[in-house]
Amino acid sequence: MCGLSVKPSPVRFNHLLLLSLVILLDSKAQQTELEWISYPPNGWEEISGLDENYTPIRTYQVCQVMEPNQNNWLRTNWIEKGNAQRIFVELKFTLRDCNSLPGVVGTCKETFNLYYQETDSEVGRSLRENQYVKIDTIAADESFTQGDLGERKMKLNTEVRIIGPLSRRGFYLAFQDVGACIALVSVKVYYKKCWSIIENLATFPDTVTGSEFSSLVEVEGMCVSDAEEEAENSPKMHCSAEGEWLVPIGKCICKAGFHQKGDACEPCGRGFYKSSSQDLQCSRCPAHSFNDREGSWRCDCEDGYYRALSDPPSVACTRPPSAPQNLVYNINQTTVSLEWSPPADTGGRNDVTYRVICRRCSWEPEECVPCGPNVGYSPAQSGLVDTYVTILDLLAHANYTFEVEAVNGVSDLSRTQRLFAAVSIATGQAAPSQVSEVIKEKVQQRSIQLSWQEPHQPNGVITEYEIKYYEKDQKDRIYSTVRSKSTSATVNNLKPSTAYVFQIRHFCLSECPSVCVFVSVSISSAAIVSSEQNPVIIIAVVAVAGTIILVFMVFGFIIGRRYALAVKFPGTKTYIDPETYEDPNRAVHQFAKELDASCIKIERVIGAGEFGEVCSGRLKLPGKRDVSVAIKTLKVGYTEKQRRDFLCEASIMGQFDHPNVVHLEGVVTRGKPVMIVIEYMENGSLDGFLRKHDGQFTVIQLVGMLRGIAAGMRYLSDMGYVHRDLAARNILVNSNLVCKVSDFGLSRVIDDDPEAVYTTTGGKIPVRWTAPEAIQYRKFTSASDVWSYGIVMWEVMSYGERPYWDMSNQDVIKAIEEGYRLPAPMDCPPGLHQLMLDCWQKDRAERPKFDQIVGILDKMIRNPNTLKTPVGTCTRPISPLLDQSTPDFTAFCTVGEWLEAIKMERYRDNFTAAGYSSLESVARMSIEQACISSLMYNFTVSLLLS
Ligand code: AMP
Repeated sequence: MCGLSVKPSPVRFNHLLLLSLVILLDSKAQQTELEWISYPPNGWEEISGLDENYTPIRTYQVCQVMEPNQNNWLRTNWIEKGNAQRIFVELKFTLRDCNSLPGVVGTCKETFNLYYQETDSEVGRSLRENQYVKIDTIAADESFTQGDLGERKMKLNTEVRIIGPLSRRGFYLAFQDVGACIALVSVKVYYKKCWSIIENLATFPDTVTGSEFSSLVEVEGMCVSDAEEEAENSPKMHCSAEGEWLVPIGKCICKAGFHQKGDACEPCGRGFYKSSSQDLQCSRCPAHSFNDREGSWRCDCEDGYYRALSDPPSVACTRPPSAPQNLVYNINQTTVSLEWSPPADTGGRNDVTYRVICRRCSWEPEECVPCGPNVGYSPAQSGLVDTYVTILDLLAHANYTFEVEAVNGVSDLSRTQRLFAAVSIATGQAAPSQVSEVIKEKVQQRSIQLSWQEPHQPNGVITEYEIKYYEKDQKDRIYSTVRSKSTSATVNNLKPSTAYVFQIRHFCLSECPSVCVFVSVSISSAAIVSSEQNPVIIIAVVAVAGTIILVFMVFGFIIGRRYALAVKFPGTKTYIDPETYEDPNRAVHQFAKELDASCIKIERVIGAGEFGEVCSGRLKLPGKRDVSVAIKTLKVGYTEKQRRDFLCEASIMGQFDHPNVVHLEGVVTRGKPVMIVIEYMENGSLDGFLRKHDGQFTVIQLVGMLRGIAAGMRYLSDMGYVHRDLAARNILVNSNLVCKVSDFGLSRVIDDDPEAVYTTTGGKIPVRWTAPEAIQYRKFTSASDVWSYGIVMWEVMSYGERPYWDMSNQDVIKAIEEGYRLPAPMDCPPGLHQLMLDCWQKDRAERPKFDQIVGILDKMIRNPNTLKTPVGTCTRPISPLLDQSTPDFTAFCTVGEWLEAIKMERYRDNFTAAGYSSLESVARMSIEQACISSLMYNFTVSLLLS
């Protein structure tokens, strides 16, 4: 759910800022002589003095103001720069006001020059001017006059200059005096670095800032001892040019056996354990376990207790269960049923099952052997969950012992004696048994060969098999019989095309129970012959099967197409409010691609968003070329609500796919920081961009931008999305001047927009951009977005002027209510102002739809005539653009003239080559045609961009 949230401050480590300087040279700190090189000898002079706090210092002074053509040089000693690339030079100096010196007109100067020379080592004490690179001419903010001499403290000037990037090992600074009266009170040279820090259990080393003002240096963190990197989330931070650590990514976590205390990992105490680095705290040893050492990842089991392989270290140690109780049995001939109660002690586990061990024993002396595979168990012999089992197919008149054992997950680990309940039972009369798996081996017109399996439990030694058979459809059954010593028999002299029933039974030696069962097999020799051998049938079957498959394929195809059509048919997608999702994570993953953090490289901070820094960087997805992206980060220490609100923007943006709506590349929700990755818009927000380029675009270019915004809004309104905060500050511009609508998220209007203010109806609203009905009774619709669009038009045509200038919000509301509307900006074509006024109709039903606005702007682009006559003030009675249906080329005679009027003469040849030789043919070409034909594509783009 996206809702209100408190605006947090971006993540910064300000406490480190003060400490971020590394001093390379501080002339004030030196008590002995500086001994810099001064040339010529009568120029700069080293003098001892007192600073503003009356501390003794070494200074250099020069005051050759009477003589013309001064060229006095002073060079510092060699300054080794270490790793620094950007060096700061801070100069404190006093400078004499020439006016206060009599007789120096023409010779006295009030500036001096600062130079540097890069070298890899000291170059001796000679001074060659041409080897120095000028940094700047330094002038005093305050010079002093003679009368001020006693107030030197007041007139001390401080100037800081930056040099870099430097590439050699060190450098010299040089001061060139050309005839001023200067005292160089102190020279301080330093660079900035981010000092070593421990963050998220990772140590980040001292890091020298990058070479440019805005560059960030990415630094990998090293886990502190006994910590390890979180999976796929290695710790990184970024050192800013100001020596601040920014944008922490990833983290380390304490290894198993260790827990976090401050910035370190400490071992778990005795009697405690931590099984995984993912756990935050050490836990007390679970029941029946212990440890007597520190830093354990698990606890050992007490004697007689065990841990199953699948048991996590967090569960108690357990032991095998006691024996089942109250074992009872029931015999039915050769079947025995056993039942029992659970054991008194389950061993502390809930995975108790039972197994049965069956032994057949001789009568005298009693010797028992395992029952073997012929005995059946229902439902099973082991792994029994219920407390009963049936044992089948026992031999008749035999003696058996059954042991029932309770087992659990640690029974097999225990070496203690097995505990079980047992009964001894003698079986009664054997059950009749039968042959099985009768197969028709060979079926011919007059004979059949049958085979079968001998009975599973014959209860004796089989001597032979008897096969009886009869014609199935005969009223009075006449049986025939054949016998076989083996498990197969051939029956001859059958009638063709007749159904027979066969019965097979076995005979045993004397101990075989006298009742043996019959097995019936029903066959029809005719049917078998035809189904197995008649090729006509085979062809027919294949044909029928083929037809069925074909029918299925055809239906499948039609159904598939129908389905595809049904899915595609609606054409416009509908926006789904992420608030309607109970689980906001589902919404994010439904609409946004989860990106691997390792594919993203953060390069620099470009802004401060509501939830954390906004950075620029690169996204390299596997198999794709890398692209520039903007990365919005969620600051560390966010609340769950902030995370939801932050990702809400991605859930909304991810639903859109239009060239004039900023494109979401994806999100990182599984690592830290949580990030939203968006296409990079090089020129930033439209309002700032226009202010920066005030008056630099043609009207056609401005209208091109407006057309883009309107197309983006048409798409959004078609999807049912109401923006509510459409304003130039929420439009982003890329390097091709393509404008895209941005700033989505339900809370943004309320929290993020500095223009939003509380209104009497409750809620915060950006009053100047909002339609009256939305201000008065919060009626936000696409029609209120159209009103805001009119304001954006005004902002664009006035190059980022503030709507209603410095009128108060209350006055704006009142003026609008009284019918006042913004006048046309300077040089605004009347047609455009008319469109603005249409957008600001009081009755929202009267305002044009975005679809119409796009159409109107397209017409204007095609008819530059309508944009041609700039007027100082646009007035209302202008022929309504909505009614214009054909382009107006009347002011031009040829295509060339028209192209010239819109400063596109260079496309003349392209138009001729493409067959657009007359204005009529150009007029006939619709804007859509124009956009898809390559000729006009280039043309249209240039038109919008040039
Ligand atoms: P937001 O949180 O969307 O208001 O973003 C804060 C600032 O970051 C904006 O004012 C822009 O200057 C910048 N920004 C946001 N998104 C982008 C983007 N896709 N491309 C370039 N700059 C952006």
